[in-house]
Amino acid sequence: MYVNMKYILDNANRDGYAVMAVNSVNMEMARAVIEAAEEEHSPIILQFGVGQMSKLAHPTEMVPMIKAMAERANVPVCLNLDHGPSLEAEIDAIKMGFSNVMIDASSLPYEENVKRSRMIADLAHAKGISVEAELGHVGQAADGDGKTADMYTNVEQAVEFVKATGVDALAVAIGTAHGKYPEGYVPVLDFNRLAELKAALKMPLVLHGGSGSGEENIRKAVAGGINKINVCTDAFHAAEVAMKAKWEAEPNTDYLNIMMTAEKAIKEFVRNYIRLIGSNNRYTFEAADNGSKE
Ligand SMILES: [Zn+2]
Repeated sequence: MYVNMKYILDNANRDGYAVMAVNSVNMEMARAVIEAAEEEHSPIILQFGVGQMSKLAHPTEMVPMIKAMAERANVPVCLNLDHGPSLEAEIDAIKMGFSNVMIDASSLPYEENVKRSRMIADLAHAKGISVEAELGHVGQAADGDGKTADMYTNVEQAVEFVKATGVDALAVAIGTAHGKYPEGYVPVLDFNRLAELKAALKMPLVLHGGSGSGEENIRKAVAGGINKINVCTDAFHAAEVAMKAKWEAEPNTDYLNIMMTAEKAIKEFVRNYIRLIGSNNRYTFEAADNGSKE
């Protein structure tokens, strides 16, 4: 069933687990991710951003395809616009049929972030689409971001921000960063800050830059109140490792076999991750409701 993200994350927030949001950039990935969720009886979020859309996840084809896959699935599936950078991108996504949009104005001044997030929340909510925003700033691992507390989400400001914008989920900065960390580096997460944020907000919180954080950090983040974990680099990596191994073992293998190898590896990776963050067996077909977006 195709649902908005609020539906998925309110349940996760109530019952204390997290749901994966996987950057799914082609048909094989989307299918692998949804099948993994079905086999684990888990809700799931698929997403991609405008950069990925311009390269390969062309939304004109991808959005209707993912919607069709979601409607056939016997678990709740959401499609999220990851890091919407502009009003135009948000409106396009709302028109195209995404069921959640993220507005990322986190690198702009606070007042501007409030203004833009509020505007998108009003537009999206009118169509039954939910909204994620970001406060504090989750930067890029390649730039060395995530290590300094001055980018972390401020608790009092977060309370004020959520009240002023009406967003459904909040991405918080507590020490992770996007992309690949330097070899051997494991991020240090500020779990005290997370505990304070959760106690003050009591709403679904999102961890960006989940890749490369290590199982221990992920487990503690979920226990501390994170309800959505964005996974991009690690999912691609699972496919890359399997494809390289396949090529080495069978140098004459063909394109179709390589694609199927990647799909299988992603599915296995997602199944394991779902169990790690506790969203498995949260949704059985018998317990399913009518999939209403509200
Ligand atoms: Zn992100």
